Amino acid sequence: MNKLPDIAINFPEWYQEVIFQAKLADHAPVRGCIVIRPYGTAIWENIKKILDDRIKATGHENAIFPLFIPQSFLSKEAEHVEGFAPELAVVTHAGGKELEEPLVVRPTSETMIHHMFAQWIRSWRDLPLKINQWANVVRWEKRPRAFLRTTEFFWQEGHTAHATKEEALEETLLMLEEYVNLAHNYLAIPVIKGRKTKHEQFPGAEATYTFEAFLIDGKALQMGTSHLLSQSFAHAFDMKFQDKDGSVAYPYLTSWGATTRLVGAVIASHGDDRGLILPPKIAPIQVVIIPIIKKDTKDQVLEYVTKMEQDFKKYGISVKVDADDTQSPGAKFYEWELKGVPLRFEVGARDIASGTVIAVSRLNKEKMTVFVENIVNWTHSKLESIQQELFIRAQKRYAAMWHKADKFEDFKDALEENNGIYQVGWCQDHACEVRLKEIAGSIRCMLESKELKNCFNCDKASLADVIVGRAY
Ligand SMILES: [Zn+2]
Repeated sequence: MNKLPDIAINFPEWYQEVIFQAKLADHAPVRGCIVIRPYGTAIWENIKKILDDRIKATGHENAIFPLFIPQSFLSKEAEHVEGFAPELAVVTHAGGKELEEPLVVRPTSETMIHHMFAQWIRSWRDLPLKINQWANVVRWEKRPRAFLRTTEFFWQEGHTAHATKEEALEETLLMLEEYVNLAHNYLAIPVIKGRKTKHEQFPGAEATYTFEAFLIDGKALQMGTSHLLSQSFAHAFDMKFQDKDGSVAYPYLTSWGATTRLVGAVIASHGDDRGLILPPKIAPIQVVIIPIIKKDTKDQVLEYVTKMEQDFKKYGISVKVDADDTQSPGAKFYEWELKGVPLRFEVGARDIASGTVIAVSRLNKEKMTVFVENIVNWTHSKLESIQQELFIRAQKRYAAMWHKADKFEDFKDALEENNGIYQVGWCQDHACEVRLKEIAGSIRCMLESKELKNCFNCDKASLADVIVGRAY
């Protein structure tokens, strides 16, 4: 295996290489698509399970809608079709002949789901309607990057309808909070939440809320979004209901989604020169046991590690015993460090005699001697502390690259050269936002707090603090 590129010097290449070397994903024959290999899929499935449980706990039901959408559906909402047109994949032929109406491979399912909502919602009693779908979608990608930007990606898309705007906004913000909880408490990624500018919001939405991560190289990543769609789609799809007072009203809609990009965010938030570092709560393998095998003690050591393996499994710790005797212990250490397994145990005959094993944390290579009689409890608390340390380490990284700035001239060179998080004031005029394009920057989100008095560009009074960065 080749050595990984230096993460501090060439992060994009490191990112690309670690994905292929750790067998998370492989190239697909169609440009812009990836094959997600079993190890990458296992990470995604762990994230999916956590999120799916929360989606259900907050009162949503899963459903499955078709992959193909009649092209005319997309045209019903003017901003929506304009926003997605350049990224659409369209099927014109099927069953050996040309179709009467071309079919779009879904880039997102608002139009399909709202078409159905219009038939399902009749009365205020049908509201709120809260549906989620796990699906793959296609948006033709010009600059693909594994997990972060792919032409086909996997995600969940939540779609809800409410009787009042207050309820719809509450739902939009509730699901944003669920995403922030997922990022902080499971992915160990600190995120900055806020509202997108009008120019950056979802096509057809009244407001888009986002949660943004800043990766190891200081670039921003939009991890997911939650939209208050209000009534534009309801009007476009003639979705009406009879209200309590007998009047006819249009419901207020929301949609919210998070994708396999979350896997990319984990890779690009925690790794180091040796490879991935996976947060224990989403790691497919939390603990790897490497038996140190010598001929005369082989049976004894294998019996011992099998007992350890059973104990871990019994108490809900996912464990792998690597007893492959064609590989040296050193080669195995290298491989499992590359794959980011949080904790490694090394067990030889001498350890068995003393009732201890050697544990090594992936996070800082710290070597510890652990008494085997207490190993399950010790491991539970060690995994918990690795999870927390990862989050704290990322928070420190944010603090070191977070700057407040008054004027464009004061930060433009630094941002262009080193990336990072810049908190500045903004007058909410699009012309000032556009200025950031000069350095390939953008407003990632508007914050609720307001500390800076003037717009970074025109010096007029600031209406909101914004976070500026350069994005993937
Ligand atoms: Zn301005």
